[in-house]
Amino acid sequence: MGDMTRNLSEWEYQCHGGTCCDYTAPDMMRLARPTQALRDIVACVQNKRGLTNDANHRLTISRGFSCQRHNATVGSKRDSQHPRGTGEDVLTPVGMSVVEFAELAELVPEFREGGIIMYDWGLHLDIREDGPYREDKQGETP
Ligand SMILES: [Zn+2]
Ligand SMILES: [Zn+2]
Repeated sequence: MGDMTRNLSEWEYQCHGGTCCDYTAPDMMRLARPTQALRDIVACVQNKRGLTNDANHRLTISRGFSCQRHNATVGSKRDSQHPRGTGEDVLTPVGMSVVEFAELAELVPEFREGGIIMYDWGLHLDIREDGPYREDKQGETP
């Protein structure tokens, strides 16, 4: 159960920096809504593969909002979507490849119009206004 959408909670989107800003986050609903839609599509695909457990359906957001201080600490660009609260990094779900995960993200209008970047660990997704933007960074060190 989430406190933002059915499965997503505010703490998942808060800055993970710890001491930098006391776990702040702006209103992330514009991002949480399409992410919930993606989660439901992923769960549907997983169900067909016999992965019916709720734990398998979980989308793990490894980074949501980052304040500018934390954003700099992790070596992210100043104009990154994370300090704007419009980008998130999501680990590849159980039972699929990152390429397939990206294909499923294309089905969500907000991400189709926004940014989808593939990494070895999963996807950076964002709802940038000057999209669409695609990049494949698999095999690169993050
Ligand atoms: Zn912070
Ligand atoms: Zn990112």
